[in-house]
Amino acid sequence: MTVPMIRLNSGHDIPQLGFGVFRVPADEAERAVSDALEVGYRHIDTAAIYGNEEGVGAAIAKSGIAREELFITTKLWNDRQVGEEPHDAIRESLARLGLDYVDLYLTHWPAPKQGAYSNAWAKLIEIRDAGLARSIGVSNHLPEHLDRIVKDTGVVPAIDQIELHPAYQQRDVLGWAEENGMRIESWGPLGQGKYPLFENPAVVEAAEAHEVTPAQAVIRWHLQKGVIVFPKSTRKERMAENFDVFGFELTDDEVARIDGIDPLDGSGRVGTHPLEFD
Ligand code: NAD
Repeated sequence: MTVPMIRLNSGHDIPQLGFGVFRVPADEAERAVSDALEVGYRHIDTAAIYGNEEGVGAAIAKSGIAREELFITTKLWNDRQVGEEPHDAIRESLARLGLDYVDLYLTHWPAPKQGAYSNAWAKLIEIRDAGLARSIGVSNHLPEHLDRIVKDTGVVPAIDQIELHPAYQQRDVLGWAEENGMRIESWGPLGQGKYPLFENPAVVEAAEAHEVTPAQAVIRWHLQKGVIVFPKSTRKERMAENFDVFGFELTDDEVARIDGIDPLDGSGRVGTHPLEFD
């Protein structure tokens, strides 16, 4: 199975489908990532705050897979945005991961009440220039935050990683990305199991038509939207199921019906709103 690659504004390529490790406990991370690598995933999404970078690093080291075949993302936590802190934070993350560089480093949240996200972004640019991250980006940034960091630095993030699934599509952020040559990553792509996506008739009927599971239909929807996606599961059979999404294609009509799931009033959101997170 070949996972499509997407070219970022940094000139580097990212596998469009990856594996996320949010809420994978530290003592399970090595096993889960080893399973994911065996299934075929080459793109792993972690974060300092997940507390499992060591487990991710141990699985990478054990795998014997060449570093250049892997795409590893980690994120700067909110309490490290000020002053020169991001420089310390990336070095600590790299030490835990056992790596010389990450493929992608993201500012985890704008945390606007702290007023430090633009400083964090300026430091990420220095981190990229120092060779510690091949590409840099942000997460949970709304157009107002993106406008601000680009105005302050002139540098457009390669990626904004946002909550995105059929019930919460954030079309304003996608519009900003399209206009500015930034790519979008979907977090909570399956609604984190909190939104009843798998019972929605648009999803169920698309899945039945292609003899796949509702989760596979939703992952396929993300891929056909052109966003980057990394569903999480600690169960190997589900990792394999979520990776097995290249043998069918949703029709335009099926995509349009799934698009219609978003109530467009923000009620489909399952995570915290970026303006409220500190
Ligand atoms: P997700 O939408 O991937 O949902 C994961 C849950 O869906 C699992 O715990 C499981 O219960 C269920 N699931 C997975 N595969 C399934 C299948 N085939 N059939 C049925 N149920 C299935 O949610 P997520 O883990 O929050 O998001 C994916 C990744 O996004 C995370 O692991 C993390 O890397 C990233 N993330 C980033 C942020 C951020 O603020 N940047 C926030 C949350 C998550």
